Amino acid sequence: MIHNLLPQQTVCLLPIPKHDKEEPCNGHLRKFYPFADFFSDLDEGLKAEIKKDFGGAKTVLVYKCRLCGAIYRPRPNSILAKL
Ligand SMILES: [Zn+2]
Repeated sequence: MIHNLLPQQTVCLLPIPKHDKEEPCNGHLRKFYPFADFFSDLDEGLKAEIKKDFGGAKTVLVYKCRLCGAIYRPRPNSILAKL
């Protein structure tokens, strides 16, 4: 699934199991070009979902968590433009 970014969100907030409880992932979000990146390790289902939303152009940009690999939909005019 593709997640929506909150205003000014720069880290991943998905709850993941840590130390026997759920905590926010806190992984940094990186720019990710799912259709241009030769080394894309994205699973095919997620890729198909991105394609449905954004098309399959090489310039399609989303954000990807470095830790858990969650995909976020970029928001125009968000602080992420600075990343
Ligand atoms: Zn994450």
